[in-house]
Amino acid sequence: MNIEYLKETDPEIYEVICREIAREQNKILLIASENYASRAVIEAQGSVLTNKYAEGYPGRRYYGGCEYADIVERLAIERAKELFKAEHVNVQPHSGSQANMAVYFSFLKPEDTIMGMSLAHGGHLSHGASVNFTGKLYKTVFYGVNKETGYIDMGEVKDLAEQYKPKMIIVGASAYSRVLDFEAFSEIAKEVGAYILADIAHIAGLIIAGEHPTPFPHVDFATATTHKTLRGPRGGIIMCKAEYAKAIDRMIFPGIQGGPLVHVIAAKAVAFKEASTQGFKEYQKGIISNAKRLASGLTKHGFKIISGGTDNHLMLVDLSNMNVTGREAEESLDNAGITVNKNAIPYDDKPPSITSGIRIGAPSVTTRGMGIAEMDEIANMISEVIKDINNPSTIANVSVMARALCSKYPIY
Ligand SMILES: *Cc1c(COP(=O)(O)O)cnc(C)c1O
Repeated sequence: MNIEYLKETDPEIYEVICREIAREQNKILLIASENYASRAVIEAQGSVLTNKYAEGYPGRRYYGGCEYADIVERLAIERAKELFKAEHVNVQPHSGSQANMAVYFSFLKPEDTIMGMSLAHGGHLSHGASVNFTGKLYKTVFYGVNKETGYIDMGEVKDLAEQYKPKMIIVGASAYSRVLDFEAFSEIAKEVGAYILADIAHIAGLIIAGEHPTPFPHVDFATATTHKTLRGPRGGIIMCKAEYAKAIDRMIFPGIQGGPLVHVIAAKAVAFKEASTQGFKEYQKGIISNAKRLASGLTKHGFKIISGGTDNHLMLVDLSNMNVTGREAEESLDNAGITVNKNAIPYDDKPPSITSGIRIGAPSVTTRGMGIAEMDEIANMISEVIKDINNPSTIANVSVMARALCSKYPIY
């Protein structure tokens, strides 16, 4: 990473970025929503395109000098349409939450009912949580997972939809390790006359690679982030049927955003190009086989995985049988050079600031080239720390092992 001008101009920020590079290199990062964007993505995102105002859309801008911004945005749109087989794509959302906001604001009125997966069972804030704008503006109904199986209970989804007649049903999650049945959800939505939104923020990369069923043609809208399994810059996109294109575009701009981040759109285009390659398909396969191996390794060590395993890039580990909270695990593992996040498990009896679980994901370690053997090592390390959580020498020993493992897999 070449940031030599910054060193002169702002040594404080330079120093912090250097330390962040070292953190990302020297620790085993298992946060399921994170990844390492390629150098090419970071170069595009760090380019002079940040200087340009380009309010509007290609060919219809409110500023002069947009000829290159137009090319950038058209390339991003065309590539995304091809990848997702979508009729229409908007690449301007600054984030996944703003992509969702644009869909809601285009087709819902305040006080309408939306139905999403409960945050406490793995859903996302922007699907109706009380602390989020969605929970304040809309009436909300939540489905969850079955207490015994850990799988989404489609019978419950159907019953709730029939009872509450939501105007929009949201299918998507941040901490669910099984396949989402977009087709079954869309049948329920059709039956009750609801719009259906697939929020594929986490699984966009898997979908592109054919490793998870695709939402189209079953859904009206799909939103995604570009920085999770998709491995691009931090940002969002919206895909939709052609009939909704105009409303969505007008809601993003001028509805809820001003000028697009042209440098980020360029980086999205680069990520979409990378995602069209055979190498990317292999990468997504690798994420899943690594996640499965990590889950089975942890199971052998006596850990309980919610739903018994994973079909995707992540898993939720229930630590209640280990007598350790999610917060304690997050802190001790990070001290040992393994970064995860504490996460509520379904039917958790502890508050969100403590939790009974951790979420573990394989996208980042797979990007740096780790495979099955390394997953076994990581499962061993996690087990050692959690089972001896009050012993500083265990944590110190594991941190040496974690660092040694990382040194074999440079991130850039
Ligand atoms: C990450 C995520 C988002 C939002 O992403 P931000 O870019 O952080 O706003 C939306 N939905 C789901 C399901 C997510 O996991």
